[in-house]
Amino acid sequence: MTGSVADRPPLPVFFLPATEFEARSASHFCMRRTAVKRSIHSSDRVLHPIEIEVALNIPFPRSQRTIGRPVTVNGFGFFTNAAVTLTLNPAPENYGRKFVRVDLDGAPEIRAEIDFAVERHRRTVLKRGEAEVELTEHVLAALAGMAIDNCRIELDACEAPGCDGSARPFVDAILSAEIVEQAAPVRIVRPMRSTGAFYSDGSRLTIDRAEPHEFTIRYELDYGAASTVPTQTSEYEITPDVFAEQIAPARTFIDAAEIEGLKKLGYGQHVTAEDLLVLGENGPIDNELRFPDECARHKILDCVGDFALIGCDISGRVTAQRSGHALNRQLVRQLRTCAASGELIDQSRAA
Ligand SMILES: [Zn+2]
Repeated sequence: MTGSVADRPPLPVFFLPATEFEARSASHFCMRRTAVKRSIHSSDRVLHPIEIEVALNIPFPRSQRTIGRPVTVNGFGFFTNAAVTLTLNPAPENYGRKFVRVDLDGAPEIRAEIDFAVERHRRTVLKRGEAEVELTEHVLAALAGMAIDNCRIELDACEAPGCDGSARPFVDAILSAEIVEQAAPVRIVRPMRSTGAFYSDGSRLTIDRAEPHEFTIRYELDYGAASTVPTQTSEYEITPDVFAEQIAPARTFIDAAEIEGLKKLGYGQHVTAEDLLVLGENGPIDNELRFPDECARHKILDCVGDFALIGCDISGRVTAQRSGHALNRQLVRQLRTCAASGELIDQSRAA
């Protein structure tokens, strides 16, 4: 969640062209598939195919991980105001990450994958049937950032706890539960060529090829001179240590002028300026920054959470310019489609 002006209702999305479509030979350690060689038509533009590889057992693979015991995080939902208990549970290899609404009949499950994302303003919501989970991005960022691949995320309300607007409470819970290495290797989606998506308002999100295990995010935040959010840029290679120390503590932020409008709509009734960063003309109101570039770091946090919806690891160098959740989901959806066309998506997760 962030209150950035880039998080607007859906705009037309365009994908940057891949100039060639070149099949490459697979090596002994790497299975590779290319995206279906077809163009995907939007309402007014032809979207070009993306070439990716989906690799298993690439050099120096890491194994899947889960947590050692259940741990809970309590709080209330920033949007719905609902009190909620969220429990992270251990899960077996190849389980993935699933939300479970234990307060509903039959305890419906929702896989934390882009297929279940619905378009909502300012946050990422997952929905399956009548069951949905609001504000998934911070808990998913914590799991993906800490490289926890398998986790059953139970909650007794429709929104994950907002806590302090960061992912730190979830990271603290994960660390307190201890991390368990599993035998199965992770899957990695790796774009072979630069690709991306952009909106007509100037927000832009690209991903460039990187070393097989590298996932770097650069966020260029510039909302203009009139914004209460100062221009800032942050860049980090996402590893568990870096995520826990540099990214997880960064809180969501909102312009002071926007929060009143949201409260009139019924959102955030319990949220105060001490719960997250409310930015006025002179900086945070009733609060202090944890980092000079806390806003850009939080946008990286949101990217980690949204990219987790690919359902496996991703390799690449991401550059985001004013990108919000909607654009993140657009690129993730396209990468996921390409990965699925490679027929290497784990079938055990398709049930
Ligand atoms: Zn956020």
